[in-house]
Amino acid sequence: MTVKLYLDDPYLKEFDARIVRRGDGFVVLDKTAFYPKSGGQDHDMGFLNNVPVVRVTRNGDDIFHFVEGMIGSDTVHGIIDWERRYALMKMHTAQHIISGIIARRYGVRTIGVSIETGESALKTEPLEINLGVITDIVEDFADIVRKRTDLKFYEIDREDALKRVDPLRIAGIQKLPASIRTLRVVEIPGADICTCAGTHVKNTRELGNLEITRHENADGSTIIYFSVS
Ligand SMILES: [Zn+2]
Repeated sequence: MTVKLYLDDPYLKEFDARIVRRGDGFVVLDKTAFYPKSGGQDHDMGFLNNVPVVRVTRNGDDIFHFVEGMIGSDTVHGIIDWERRYALMKMHTAQHIISGIIARRYGVRTIGVSIETGESALKTEPLEINLGVITDIVEDFADIVRKRTDLKFYEIDREDALKRVDPLRIAGIQKLPASIRTLRVVEIPGADICTCAGTHVKNTRELGNLEITRHENADGSTIIYFSVS
């Protein structure tokens, strides 16, 4: 099992760890600050002992670091590509805010997300997007950034999550294995509350301007593409 250092401290940029397993082009560590591609958020990149980490995946409780080169020792010093990670943290936080806005304003559920560095996307139930809708989202978003709101992260029982979190913001919870009893909640007071194990910023003031770059309707859903500076 890999301890996920990024959950307690998403701002951790360097760490030391021990290799507990080696395979064809990958290593598993006892703990890591590298975020694996999961929950719609793209993976981190960076270095382990100066060897490039090009892909990070998760299988059960283990996190696999795919490296381009040989790591000689059994201990590693990890360095996260912080520019990439911070861009992903801002995109992911922006996604929660947008999902909160459209749930509140239009009663529409977010059914999928794709958090990447250049342009991110969220897939929602069908939503008629016009200039008025885009303006509403961008203005609500700017309000939340101006309020400089601290995010809250905490764990709650699965049953409590079902009671406390807006049903529109808890899609997928029923699909989680029954063995998962506690869930991590990400709350942006006054803006959104949902369960999520990704990485986010501490305060909404870290976000810049939101741009809705494009949108499309496909297979009974709407995809909204966005970027945040
Ligand atoms: Zn999330």
